[in-house]
Amino acid sequence: MATPSVEKLIIIGSGPAGWSAATYAARAQLQPLVYEGAITEKNRMSGTLPLGQLALTSEVENYAGFPHGDLGAFLDSALPAARRQMMAPHAGEGVTGPELMELMRQQAVNFGTRVVTDDILSVDFSKRPFMVQPADGPAVHAQCVIVATGASANWLGLPSEERFKNRGVSACAVCDGALPRFRNRELVVVGGGDSAVEEATYLTKFASTVHLVHRRDALRASKIMAQRAHDDPKIKIHFNTALAEVLGDDGHGVTGVRLESTTEQGKDETIDVAGVFLAIGHTPNTSFLAGQLELTPKKYIVWKKHFRTDTSVEGVFAAGDVADDYYRQAISAAGTGCMSALDAERWLAGHGV
Ligand code: NAP
Repeated sequence: MATPSVEKLIIIGSGPAGWSAATYAARAQLQPLVYEGAITEKNRMSGTLPLGQLALTSEVENYAGFPHGDLGAFLDSALPAARRQMMAPHAGEGVTGPELMELMRQQAVNFGTRVVTDDILSVDFSKRPFMVQPADGPAVHAQCVIVATGASANWLGLPSEERFKNRGVSACAVCDGALPRFRNRELVVVGGGDSAVEEATYLTKFASTVHLVHRRDALRASKIMAQRAHDDPKIKIHFNTALAEVLGDDGHGVTGVRLESTTEQGKDETIDVAGVFLAIGHTPNTSFLAGQLELTPKKYIVWKKHFRTDTSVEGVFAAGDVADDYYRQAISAAGTGCMSALDAERWLAGHGV
């Protein structure tokens, strides 16, 4: 049997961490091979389509180097026409998440990164070369692997939430908010963090009222974002409130929600809404690792050395939100992506590759 060819470096994941790692690795002539994820309905529902969580956001106001301005002409010049045409026209404001991700992807490709649009279903890190198993096609072997698979949106786990997924229940306002079913209707967003405020603010473009439902008495969101929610006349905040049930029927999908107070004194209520958007945090995408790397109790990959991206397996590095439950910013993910490529380059050089 022919010996399979061995890649120097495989990068799994296509968010800011993955592309930043790929750009550095490609410039270091490691010829990285990136598995960017598959374009499937399952990945759409779980928020794990290629280009990661930023592809599910609108304007990105806090990525250094992208102040508000008209990027339209730059995007036209920097991206291939085929990929540019798949994106919304530039709105004339700051950079959007999808635009930023396309730019990062293109930058990695420009330096020779090869990209496969597929998921990795399993890995074998017990011996070198390491093995990764794509969904479509034979296993691939590599001397070194960077895991940058990010995290995906959490759901509450209510049976009624499951029943109305795709029929009024969503975990991505930017993906689904503009659908006709939500236009000029009342909507609910669940959560109290930056994502919940961002989703609620985005939905005010379409909705008549957005009910922001949060289980505690104060938002967790950053001050500027929280102030935005408080100041927006279209956002009504329900503190100390939990979503108990999504109401609806097969014909209409979501028609309302039953809200429960989280305090003794509060009252339960039912409101008519056409949509429910969950923004209650994220879970790292580590299940495909099947316990082969050390994980935290919350299933994030453990970085084993201080200020390095080494995992519990020598030659396997981790970058971005899959290993970071603290900062979780696009720019910190890109930063650790860069670090992981430098760590991989030095590790490979130390092993004569
Ligand atoms: P997050 O900060 O972890 O907030 C999650 C929210 O969901 C919290 O308010 C939490 O309530 C609530 N929650 C969690 N589980 C719940 C449950 N079972 N039922 C009801 N509510 C529940 O997550 P995030 O908002 O997705 O933000 C993640 C990170 O990304 C943060 O670092 C954030 O700053 C960043 N981010 C930044 C921006 C931006 O700057 N533009 C935008 C989006 C996200 P408690 O408050 O009670 O815990």
